Amino acid sequence: MIYDCILMRYGELTLKGKNRHLFENKLARNILAKLKGFPPVKLTKTSGRMFLDLQGQDLDALLAVLNNVFGLSSFSPAICTGHDISEIEKKAAQLLQSKLTQRSSFKLVTRRSLKTFSMLSSEINNRVGKFICSKLGDTYVDVHEPDVTLYIEVRKEHTYLYTDIFKGRGGLTVGISGPVLLLLSGGIDSPVAGYLALKRGVELSCVYFHSHPFTGGKVKQKVIDLVHILNNYGGCIKLYIIPFTETQLKLREKCRPSYTVTIMRRMMMRMATALAHEKELLALITGESLGQVASQTLESLNVINEVTNLPILRPLIGMDKIEIVNRAKYIGTYETSILPYDDCCTLFLPKSPKIRPTRDEVNSQESFLNIDELVSRALANVEVKILDPSQGKVNIDLDCFT
Ligand code: ATP
Ligand code: MG
Repeated sequence: MIYDCILMRYGELTLKGKNRHLFENKLARNILAKLKGFPPVKLTKTSGRMFLDLQGQDLDALLAVLNNVFGLSSFSPAICTGHDISEIEKKAAQLLQSKLTQRSSFKLVTRRSLKTFSMLSSEINNRVGKFICSKLGDTYVDVHEPDVTLYIEVRKEHTYLYTDIFKGRGGLTVGISGPVLLLLSGGIDSPVAGYLALKRGVELSCVYFHSHPFTGGKVKQKVIDLVHILNNYGGCIKLYIIPFTETQLKLREKCRPSYTVTIMRRMMMRMATALAHEKELLALITGESLGQVASQTLESLNVINEVTNLPILRPLIGMDKIEIVNRAKYIGTYETSILPYDDCCTLFLPKSPKIRPTRDEVNSQESFLNIDELVSRALANVEVKILDPSQGKVNIDLDCFT
């Protein structure tokens, strides 16, 4: 079947009241940005729906892209026609014929947002249903268990016909919740935390603490690869790489081994906070999950939180490892995350890290370090990578969104 367009629906956006058009515009821009490299594509917006014109497009490729767009609740390849009922029944019969095999049943579901249309939804169902039965010999109506459901949406501008409704990723449009900084290690958890944050509409930047030469180029590449995967969902993510070797060596030299994990986390938080302030990012995100390891007990989280004045979002806090692993597989980060290269956290790992660190002891151990100097030296040497997944020429027509 040759479809004319893809009809797109968005869920939570409809809750956004007066700001709704801002969210819709952002969603439209995000969709179009993901279609860089496609032939120029026309996107139009009507109340509560958006449409992508399929002329000259590869339907499957477009569906694959839409499948990764946060903010879309569902979408359907559709046939577009006018308001003439004989045209509607003809197109409906053609669409159904392409979907049915031999003798099979169907059901019509009509939605009429154009209230001035001359027929009621039930009348449209009756009329189109009769026409289909007369044209397609062995076909019959079954409203309880139809083989195919054909939807008719009579809208102000056009009438749309479709049979498939693909579920979108839901969530909020990326970018509308503000910019945040994800602490991204090469592990399983933090990419999943980044994905879930993107799903709540944040604009993501990532920071990776790199302990060269103890953690080699392969770990760095692994983190870059993870950002590339997250880019499928979140656009153009910046990655900041902060040199962490000096801090780790000083920690090993000066602090009691059982406290090095806690203090290392606090150093990461201090550096991430300084970077976030400099780049005007509004919160930090980690892949921590309560009780998973020594640094993720409530006592540890308390002393770790104390060194930052930014909110720390922990999207995985209530998830167990199996749930996180399943989510990592679902979003495509798992295979990269499990590549066996050391992270800076696994280096110099003490035999018994403190599970319930106390504030006094942390402060006393940190007094052996020159914290400000370590932070400012690391930040003076940050490496930045902007990983834009899309290629080719952009051809975006946003006239209808201004
Ligand atoms: P992950 O799978 O994300 O590495 P984890 O279970 O191994 O998590 P930890 O090693 O304790 O947990 O790390 C807790 C969190 O600290 C990570 O989820 C991540 O947000 C942050 N983190 C750890 N190491 C780094 C690093 N080298 N660079 C940036 N952030 C890090
Ligand atoms: Mg880790």
